[in-house]
Amino acid sequence: MKIDFAKLTYQYNLYKNEIDKAIQHVLNHGKYIMGPEINELEEKLCEFTSAKNAITCASGTDALLLAMMALDIKPGDEIITTPFTFIATAETIALLGAKPVFVDIDEKTYNIDVSKIEEKITSKTKGIISVSLYGQPSDLDAINEIAKKYNLFHIVDGAQSFGATYKGKAEVHYCDIYTTSFFPAKPLGCYGDGGAVLTNNDELAEKIKMLRVHGQNKRYNHKYIGINARMDTIQATILNIKLRHYPEDLKKRQQIAEKYTELLNSSTHPLILPFTKDDRTSAWAQYSIRVKNRDEIQAKLKEKGIPTAIHYPMPLHLQECFKYLGYKEGDFPVAERVSKEIISLPMNPYLSDEEIEYIKEALIGDK
Ligand SMILES: *Cc1c(COP(=O)(O)O)cnc(C)c1O
Repeated sequence: MKIDFAKLTYQYNLYKNEIDKAIQHVLNHGKYIMGPEINELEEKLCEFTSAKNAITCASGTDALLLAMMALDIKPGDEIITTPFTFIATAETIALLGAKPVFVDIDEKTYNIDVSKIEEKITSKTKGIISVSLYGQPSDLDAINEIAKKYNLFHIVDGAQSFGATYKGKAEVHYCDIYTTSFFPAKPLGCYGDGGAVLTNNDELAEKIKMLRVHGQNKRYNHKYIGINARMDTIQATILNIKLRHYPEDLKKRQQIAEKYTELLNSSTHPLILPFTKDDRTSAWAQYSIRVKNRDEIQAKLKEKGIPTAIHYPMPLHLQECFKYLGYKEGDFPVAERVSKEIISLPMNPYLSDEEIEYIKEALIGDK
């Protein structure tokens, strides 16, 4: 058997007729930048999440940048976040001249350990960026309590979590700004780069819309120093179609995660399986487990046609680009340990029971 990690082309073929027609329509109408499909998508994103505002943009990285630019992040500001995430979360903080201040993660959810945030707050701290890793929201209420006490903003980096819920609602309702990514391999992906910023704050939304187009309030009038971070119309038309099918995708990802957990729960082969708190749901961007002998297991699975991925092999405080921050090995022991043991198994809405069974056999079977 040969298993596909994300089955992206399989999904394209399912919706091929709709998608080909929609792309052709954009090619014909010619509004390649900010065409009507952009507005349509922004309205649908608001409907999907009940957010007051959705602003599409060119990537999840730009979404973070736009969010922090809207909040006036400046050189010298400190922003608290997790070291166990994709580089973009902290890179965008540093790009604005601010300082990423890391806090270790929770041993079970791999999200920021809220009990360790307060000790890192200084007079320079401006905000907290929580990351909904693998699709699961962090302890948003507890973070908001701290944010309120110290007058900090809270951005949720939801690049992996679009469609997840916290206490029954989308995460945008539990932060100042929620950002997400539509990179092809994210749970809701387009066919190139794409992202969005969601917020219930109308003032921030207006500013983000301007920042996305060179800080412009009218053509050739520039209120702010901005960037070019628009989503392509072609990507929006693809997302308009995929969003219609997305509730079903989310359901299937949930069922597949449950099937994995049911099959991999084994007392003779103790693996550490994903843990989702019961007041929230995950978008299941990844199904990641922890093993002791990762290299060996990865090679064994590869031999059997099962691709795996490591999210992420090196926590951000140990990355060369952040050397200047002065962190060292041992500073965040949980993130360091998890980064050595974590391995992501194939995850997409189309994994069959037979495939999951096969992966289980390869991992803990006797054959
Ligand atoms: C993918 C990802 C991003 C960046 O999104 P892009 O669309 O690739 O720019 C940011 N943060 C996290 C946690 C991600 O997983």
